Amino acid sequence: MKFCSECAHPVSLIVPTDDNRLRYVCEQCGVIHYQNPKMVIGSIPAWEHDGESRVLLCKRAIEPRLGYWTLPAGFMENDETTSEAARRETLEEAGARIELHGLFSLLNVPHVHQVHMFYRATLLDLNYEAGIESLEVKLFSEEEIPWEDIAFPTVAYTLQSYFSDLKKVKSGEGAYELHTHDITKKLRQPG
Ligand code: ZN
Repeated sequence: MKFCSECAHPVSLIVPTDDNRLRYVCEQCGVIHYQNPKMVIGSIPAWEHDGESRVLLCKRAIEPRLGYWTLPAGFMENDETTSEAARRETLEEAGARIELHGLFSLLNVPHVHQVHMFYRATLLDLNYEAGIESLEVKLFSEEEIPWEDIAFPTVAYTLQSYFSDLKKVKSGEGAYELHTHDITKKLRQPG
C-alpha cells in the first residue's frame, strides 16, 4: 500500500500507539489501514458412478500455478456467505452446479495471509465446462489424480483427506470429519 484510500496522502508503515504491529497509517487523516487474511473458498464436487467415486478438478488457466490442477476455489467476495462463495466459484471455474454438503477442510496458510476452506459437494449433472480461469475440467478417481501436478498444498491435503474419509464411509467404519491443518512455508511446493 502506498497511498491512503481515504485521502490519497502517502501512507507510512509504523506501529500505531497502543498497537504492537506495523500498520499502514495515514498521517494526514489519521486512518489506520488494517490488513487481514483473505478467505479462499472452494468445493470438492463428487460424482458416483458404478460404485466408483470421482472428483472434479480444474486445470488452471491463470497464474499462480498455471497448468496445474486444483479444486474449484477462489477469494470470497463481500456480501456473500462461505457456502455461496463455494457454489459461485464452482460455477465460475468449472461450469458445475452442485449440492453443497458439510465443511470438510479448513487450512491456515499464514505466510500468504490466507485461510482456505473446502466444502463437500455432489455434482447435480455432468454438464460442466471450463470457465475462463480453467484450461480443462475433468473427473478423477483417486488413482487418476495427478498428485505431482496439484496446484496448491491445501488442495493436495484436502484431496488426500477426502479419499481417506471416503474409504471409511464406504466401508461403514467412519464418517466425514472436519480436517484442520496449518500449512507452513517449508512444506510449500516449489514454484
Ligand atoms: Zn488519509
